[in-house]
Amino acid sequence: MEIVALPGQASTGKVWLVGAGPGDVDLLTVKAYRVLQNADAVLFDALVSDDILALIPPHAEKIAVGKRAGKHSAAQSEINQLLVTKAYTRKNVVRLKGGDPFIFGRGGEELETIVAAGVDFEVVPGITAASGTAAYAGIPLTHRDYAQGVTFITGHCKLESRPMDWQSYANPNNTLVVYMGILNANLIKQGLLGAGRIAATPVAIVSKATTSSQQTFIGTLDNIEQLASHPDLVMPALMVIGEVVELADTLNWFTPQSNQIKTTELAAQLK
Ligand code: SAH
Repeated sequence: MEIVALPGQASTGKVWLVGAGPGDVDLLTVKAYRVLQNADAVLFDALVSDDILALIPPHAEKIAVGKRAGKHSAAQSEINQLLVTKAYTRKNVVRLKGGDPFIFGRGGEELETIVAAGVDFEVVPGITAASGTAAYAGIPLTHRDYAQGVTFITGHCKLESRPMDWQSYANPNNTLVVYMGILNANLIKQGLLGAGRIAATPVAIVSKATTSSQQTFIGTLDNIEQLASHPDLVMPALMVIGEVVELADTLNWFTPQSNQIKTTELAAQLK
């Protein structure tokens, strides 16, 4: 890890690692809102919604450091370095991330650099995509009749990284939530089926959860690739795999127009 403290100087600023929640501006915590109001500089990711960016006070410097699959964006080491540099020149530097900064958010990596550079920091949690999706799609992630546990995994399976533990993810009494999994739907299906999860296991793919463009695509593990490659599927999207998905039929209270159409059309197509 690189240490980027500026020699001969002490940092006067503080870094606030803040979770912006999944999209709906009302899901920002009161603390996150207060911290944003005091920000002198805000470094934000592509996942942070425009409604939330609109809350950044006009005097604060806004810096986009977002990542989107396939598009060039600042390398992680550049972001780490920028955070430290800003903390030497600004009082309150907010690092604003989608969802929760400690769930697939690289928040830990950024803080390690900040600590190494002797910069003061605080962490403000956010509502992670899984919680936002569960609430707004009517899919309780645990339920005494269907799932005794829930596992969050990344579907961004890099070939060079550790092998996925499909055996533990295929437990039928567990809900599996896959972040960043859309492009790897086939791998996920093969992994789970190979480890014994049945093909009829219900699956929901929820895109732009908690926003007015939320859409829910419901099917089974067997046709998860069809759901994932639906032409109307817009990123970001999350996969929820498990029996609890069936509860969406009765518990789906948040129904933007587009969501209703997709769910009905898809059900007909997949029959
Ligand atoms: N730190 C974030 C996750 C970052 S990883 C959090 O806690 O939510 C990025 C992945 O999160 C996306 O690929 C997608 O799978 C999921 N995601 C984030 N926001 C989402 C949203 N509004 N709707 C659906 N999925 C979302």
